[in-house]
Amino acid sequence: MDCLFCKLVAKEIPATILFEDEDVIAFEDIMPQAPVHFLVIPKKHISTLNDIKEEDAAIIGKLPIVASKIAKEKKVDQSGYRVVMNCNEDGGQTVYHIHMHVLAGKQMTWPPG
Ligand code: AMP
Ligand code: ZN
Repeated sequence: MDCLFCKLVAKEIPATILFEDEDVIAFEDIMPQAPVHFLVIPKKHISTLNDIKEEDAAIIGKLPIVASKIAKEKKVDQSGYRVVMNCNEDGGQTVYHIHMHVLAGKQMTWPPG
């Protein structure tokens, strides 16, 4: 399948991997938008939030667990962080394999752009 993040899961393209188990992989974002910016993704290819099925609930449930574990390792759990999942064009999604952004290390603003 011609999917950037499936290739990353398959180690066909390099990444700075922060966490990996049988279901999930987390890695540094290649174009960080904050001092801390990493992505947490399911290894299973799911294109958008709209494509999550009931049977994916356990895997998807691991994303925030892994996100907060890495946030703690990076010592931003107490200062805080922003979690973002973009869906389709208006949401600003550019890679069509779902991913949870975790941004930290600066004061985030609201509303987002
Ligand atoms: P989105 O716009 O929500 O689909 O986010 C896609 C994210 O993937 C962006 O923040 C990109 O910087 C990031 N990205 C794209 N290619 C890579 C890559 N090869 N390794 C790590 N992050 C990537
Ligand atoms: Zn994929």
